[in-house]
Parts: sequence; structure tokens; C-alpha cells
Amino acid sequence: LISMLKDPSLAADKALIAGKWVAVSDSGKTFDVTNPSTGELVATLPDMGREEAARCIEAAYRAQKLWAAKTGKERAAVLRKLFDLLVENADDLAVILTMEMGKPLAEAKGEILYGASYVEWFGEEAKRVYGDTIPGHQQDKRIIILKQPVGVVASITPWNFPNAMLARKFAPAVAAGCAMVSKPAAETPLSALALAVLAERAGLPAGIFNVVLSTDSSSVGKEFTENDKVRKLTFTGSTNVGKILMRQGADQIMKLGLELGGNAPFIVFDDADLDAAVEGAMVSKYRNNGQTCVCANRLYVQSGVYDAFAKKLSEKVAAMKVGDGFEAGVNAGPLITQKALEKVEEHISDAVSKGAEVALGGNRDARGGLFFQPTVLTGVTTDMKVAREETFGPVAPLFEFETEEDVIEMANNTEFGLASYFYSKDMSKIFRVAEALEYGMVGINTGLISTEVAPFGGIKQSGQGREGSKYGIEDYLEIKYLCLSI
Ligand code: ADP
Repeated sequence: LISMLKDPSLAADKALIAGKWVAVSDSGKTFDVTNPSTGELVATLPDMGREEAARCIEAAYRAQKLWAAKTGKERAAVLRKLFDLLVENADDLAVILTMEMGKPLAEAKGEILYGASYVEWFGEEAKRVYGDTIPGHQQDKRIIILKQPVGVVASITPWNFPNAMLARKFAPAVAAGCAMVSKPAAETPLSALALAVLAERAGLPAGIFNVVLSTDSSSVGKEFTENDKVRKLTFTGSTNVGKILMRQGADQIMKLGLELGGNAPFIVFDDADLDAAVEGAMVSKYRNNGQTCVCANRLYVQSGVYDAFAKKLSEKVAAMKVGDGFEAGVNAGPLITQKALEKVEEHISDAVSKGAEVALGGNRDARGGLFFQPTVLTGVTTDMKVAREETFGPVAPLFEFETEEDVIEMANNTEFGLASYFYSKDMSKIFRVAEALEYGMVGINTGLISTEVAPFGGIKQSGQGREGSKYGIEDYLEIKYLCLSI
């Protein structure tokens, strides 16, 4: 890895605990990070536990007060510097990301710039944490509303966007005047460490950002939820783990930001621009090899265009190039783990056993390892696993539907409510359907909705809170009401 970087110091192999880079854990244990494309060792890191997490929390607690006392403009200056450093080092950061996670290098670079955009945005927002004044309820009363940082924030993030999922939490927390203790996924910790290296370089004070490295996520998660110096937990990951963390945080009424699983419907109506819908399905379904929480999971196509859509989509998918993320022209890397690969296989075999047809792909890729062929399934019905569970892989199951009413019902028939998408040119239908979909986000005639300027987040069991936009910083602020008698 080091030999591929212009700046080898970005490949940190230590944790950042209480302002110090720590090479050895209390227990002396280590863990390996491997490249999912080749299985090669990328780094060996200290494997930490509750004690190290507690030390980070203590340091964050002490540092936070001074950080909060700075002006928004001072905090903004650090984030602006960090944004510049992220952009300057985007090529190296992308190499680190592809090495640990496997996604194509171009997508990795896109993720770095996307993550950086949150740092830029929330740096700007740091200066705009406006309070309010409210006309008094009695003649002698003046009512003033302050917004103050919540304090120490703990963050737990997944492997699918090792940089951006953390940057989306780190940036608003730090902008608001909070301090953060973070635990990245053990599969992909190096991108988090690289962010910490650059944050330090940008002038972020010691203790404001900590990175605990651990394969024992449940111990660290317990410290994060049971230590009463932590005031908020922000988590991106599975709904199951989100529920565990919510239960654990209940004892201290912990504030929670949860970005959990999705089961996104992608609806193509008869009146859609079919080429645009195919384009949208390609990015929404196959980006990151289908491993995003907003990936189209169920594609509903109206009967008048079903066959044409299936054909056009299959043609596009057939042109995808599977391979190592560093190979030129590759747009599908490996899946992250053997377990992920097996889940994809299980969903396909379940669908086929119940009558679905494989229009394209359906098998492990010839190159072996964790590579899987981009797949299109037709004749999919609601009794199949793909209808209910998130596949998290490169499989597009095509359901056929007849009426708007039917498809709304099927689309909403899930405990999830993160992203949804539909294609239509009929303006009144667009508003009807957008308002009827029980989702936090609706892409209309587009398959790509993520941006730092809009509020990302879900309803139902997809979570709570929003990341990005003017709403995003509110998750890291408390409202304080001053009642002044004059
Ligand atoms: P994924 O399927 O994306 O790996 P998980 O929810 O299992 O989703 O993992 C997301 C993050 O949550 C990872 O950083 C993982 O280490 C962490 N995690 C998993 N189980 C727990 C737990 N019991 N407590 C705290 N964190 C956990």
C-alpha cells in the first residue's frame, strides 16, 4: 500500500486515542485488514476494547469544552483546511479506500470527494448556528433560544463507505462544537485513520477526534452507550445492530442518530423515459456493487414496458466489467466478505426455486474469490426473499405490476423506509406517488439522490435523524430556552 501512495504517512497503522497515536493495544492483540479483491494483507492494527474506548471518551470530554468555546468561524477555518487537504490528497485516499474495501478506484475517488463535500458544507454551517428570539408571554419577559453542542458524540460506521459514512457524522459534530469518539468497521479502518491524520494536520485540537480500532464491536458499543459522558450516538449500519444500540442507550436516554437498512423500491411506470430509467437503475442498483443502503432492491416495472425494460437493462448490465478495483475500466469490484457473497447466492436460488428466471448472470464470477456476476432476475414475485430482505449485492429483481395503486401498496409493504425511486412523466402522478411513498427520500426520474446539500435519512425501521443539509447540524445541537424577566 505504502508504495502506491504519494504521501505514505496517510497509511496510518495506529489508533488515535486521546490525542495520541497508539500502536499497541492494552491486550496486545492485533487484527489484520485484507484486500477483499486479492485476499492480501493490507495492514495489521492494534485490536482494542472498552478501556481504550473509555480513555477516548474521557479525552473527548475534556477537549470538547474548549472546542465549543471557539467561535463558529474558528471551527469553520479548521474544517475548510481539512476540506482542502481531503481534495489535495484525494488520489491517495482513494487508493487506501480501494485497497481495503475493493470498490473501483474511480468510485473510491468519488466517495472521497463526496465525503469532503460534507466537511466543506458543515464548515460553512458552523457559522450559521442561529438561535431565536420569541415575543415574551408577559410584559416583563424576554425569551431567547440558544443552540449548544450536545457534547461528546460516539460514532459507529460500516465498511461500505469507509470515508463518507464517517465524514457525514464527523463534519456536523465538529462544526457544532462537539467532540467525537469513533469506531470504524474492522474491515475498513484505514480510511478513518487517514481522515484523522488529515484532521490533525488541519489543526483540529487533540482529543476532538478519536479513532478506536476494534474487532470487538459489541464491547466498544457498550462503552459508547453506557458511559454517561457520551451524549449522543450516531450509527450507520444494520437495523438489527441499531436496535441493540438503541436498547443499550435507553438507560441514559441517549440521543441517537440512526442510518439503518433500506429496501428501496425502484418503480418504472409505462409513461417513463425508458432509457433514463435504465440509466437510473444502473447507478441505483449496481453502484458500489449493490452494497449501499439506498441501492434499488426491488425493481417494479409496469406491464406495458416490462419486457422492453428487462431487455435494455440486461444489455447495459452485460457490458459491465467485473474486476479488481485498480484495473482500468472496472465498474464492479468484489463483494466485501464470503458471507455477503453467500447471501447474494441464497437470494438468487430462493427466487429461482420459486419461479424467477435468470435473465443475466446469476453465478460467481469466473475469477473466483469474492467476485459475483452482475445479475438480472425476471418473473420475480412477492413471496421471494428478494422482496423482503436487503440483498446488498449486484442483483436486480424485476417485479411486474399493473396499477399505480398496486405498486404503491407493494412498495410500502416493508418495515424499511429509506430511499425510493420512480420514473414517470405525468406531473400529477409524480406528486401523487411521491406523497404516497412511505420513505425518507424519493428519487424522481433519477437514481442518484445523495448530496451534502439535502437531508439524507429514513423513516420506519430505517432510522432517525438526518445527515447533510441545514437540518443535519441540528442533530448535534441542543435547544436551550432562556426566560429573562426585566
Ligand atoms: P454491516 O452488515 O454493514 O456490517 P453492521 O450493523 O453489522 O452492518 O455493522 C456496522 C457497524 O456496527 C460496524 O462498525 C460493526 O463493527 C458495528 N457493530 C456490529 N455489531 C455491533 C454491536 N453489537 N455493538 C456495536 N457495534 C456493532
